[in-house]
Amino acid sequence: MDITEEIELHDCPICAGAGLIEEEDHGYYVACLDCGSYTGTVGYKDEDGRKQAAERAAMLWNTGKVINSAPGE
Ligand SMILES: [Zn+2]
Repeated sequence: MDITEEIELHDCPICAGAGLIEEEDHGYYVACLDCGSYTGTVGYKDEDGRKQAAERAAMLWNTGKVINSAPGE
């Protein structure tokens, strides 16, 4: 079961595009497919912390705590 499918993501807080939860080396973050905004990575240490980390990354995204890497700001 892919835990990222259970996590609800709002639209991008910057451009209202689609967000995608990504896993990287023991952590999760959410990135926008359209404007390239992203959250910080929330790391986890073991299998138990994994879902929590994914949920925290989603929460950062859903509350608009993203880094906007788009040029011209
Ligand atoms: Zn966006």
